[in-house]
Amino acid sequence: MKVLKFGGTSVGSPQRMKEVCQIFMAESGNIVVLSAMSGTTNSLVEIADYLKKSNTEAASLVVNQLRQRYAQHIADLYSTELWRQRTQEFVDSVFSFLFSLATVPMTEAIEKQIVAQGEIISTNMVTNYLLEQGRKAQLLSALDFMKLSKNGEPDINYLREHIGPIIEQHHDAEVFITQGFIARNADGDVDNLQRGGSDYSACLIGAALKCEEIQIWTDIDGMHNNDPRFVESTQPVRQLNFEEAAELAYFGAKILHPTCIQPARYADVPVRLLNTMEPSAPGTIINNEMRPTTIKAVAAKDNITAIKITSSRMLLASGFLVQVCKVFERYHTSVDMITTSEVGITLSIDNRTHLDAIVKKLKQYGTVEIDDDMCIVCVVGDLRWGNVNYETKILQALSNVPIRMISYGGCNHNISFLIRAQDKKRALNALSENLF
Ligand code: ASP
Ligand code: MG
Repeated sequence: MKVLKFGGTSVGSPQRMKEVCQIFMAESGNIVVLSAMSGTTNSLVEIADYLKKSNTEAASLVVNQLRQRYAQHIADLYSTELWRQRTQEFVDSVFSFLFSLATVPMTEAIEKQIVAQGEIISTNMVTNYLLEQGRKAQLLSALDFMKLSKNGEPDINYLREHIGPIIEQHHDAEVFITQGFIARNADGDVDNLQRGGSDYSACLIGAALKCEEIQIWTDIDGMHNNDPRFVESTQPVRQLNFEEAAELAYFGAKILHPTCIQPARYADVPVRLLNTMEPSAPGTIINNEMRPTTIKAVAAKDNITAIKITSSRMLLASGFLVQVCKVFERYHTSVDMITTSEVGITLSIDNRTHLDAIVKKLKQYGTVEIDDDMCIVCVVGDLRWGNVNYETKILQALSNVPIRMISYGGCNHNISFLIRAQDKKRALNALSENLF
C-alpha cells in the first residue's frame, strides 16, 4: 500500500483532476490524500477574517465567488446529470453552512471549521468523479483518525489505532480518498495541521500504516539542486537522505513541508517527490540511505536578521551563552544559526516580531548590533568532517561574496552561510557552477 498526496494545483481544474485520477488509479489499494483546490484555503481564510470583523457583506462576496467557481468545475468534471446534481447538492450544503455563519458570533472553533471545507469539498468531488466512472472509491474522513494532542502535535498512536480498522472495513475498495491538512484537536473540535499541512498528513498516514512508500505529487520534477527561480539549468536530485531533505525543506526548498519528513524517517518509509506533469519521470526519493561523498543541493532562506552581542565580560565567564539563549526562548523566537568567539556571539533569526524586546533585554549583557536583510545559503550533502576539500570548494565559490557568518559541523549534512540578501543570486549561481 502506498500513500499518494496531490496538492492544490494538481486538483485545481477539472482537467487536472481527471489526470490525477488516472495517475493514482493505475494501481489499486492505495490511499490518496488531497489538498483543497488551489486558492480555496486562502479564500476560506479571507471569509473567516471578514466574519471576525463582522463584515458579512465582504464575506458573502468571497463565498459567492467560490460558489461560482465550484459550479463551473462541477459542470465540466462530470459527464452525467446524476453525479453533477449529487455533487452540487453536497457543495451547496457546504456553502449554506458558510452563509449561515453570518449570523453567529465567530469563535476559533468556527474559524477552523471554515478553513477545513476546502479539503472536504475536493475529496468529495474526486470520489464522486471516480464513482461516476464505475470505480470503487472509498472516501475516508480524516476527522475520524487524524487527531492532535493537547500540545497541538499529531497523535500518532491514535492515528495508527483508528485508521487501520477503518481501512479493513472496506477491503474491496480500489482506492481510499482522504483529506490532507484537517484533523480534530484534543477536545474533538475540527482543527488543522497548519497551512501547507497536507504533506504532513500524507507522511503521518504513510508512517502510521508503515506503507511501502509515500508519494508527494507536485508540478516540479522532484527536489532541484538549486533554486530554479534564481539559477538557470538546475537539475533534479535523484536521492536525498531524510536529514538532507529536512535541511533543504527548512532552508528554502518550497517543495516539501519541513516538519513532514520526521514521521516517515522514524518509520523508515521512503518519500518520493513526483511530477504530475511528467508522471513517468523518476522524481526524487528520500530515504535513510546515505550516499557518501556527494554534494546534493543548495537552498536559501530569506528575511534573516543577525544579532551580535559583544562583551568583554564574556571572556572566560561561564553561563553567558545560556543567558543570551534564554532571551530568545522567552520571546518564542527560534534561532537558525549561531557563531561564537571569546568575546561575542552572533545569532540569526527569521522572525522579527519580538526583535525590539529581544534587543532591549540583550543590552543587559553587552553591545548589541543588528544586520538585517540577510539570507542563509545552505549547502547540503555528505559533509562529514572527515571528508576533505568540500569546505574549500564551497568557500572558493563564494570568494567574491561578503560572508557574515559560517556554520559548519552542526550535523553531517550541512554547511550554512549568512550573506546579504542582495548577494543571494550570485552566491547561488557561483555555488552551482563550482559544485555541480
Ligand atoms: N489547503 C491547505 C493550504 O492551502 C493545506 C495544503 O494545501 O497543504 O494550506
Ligand atoms: Mg503544498
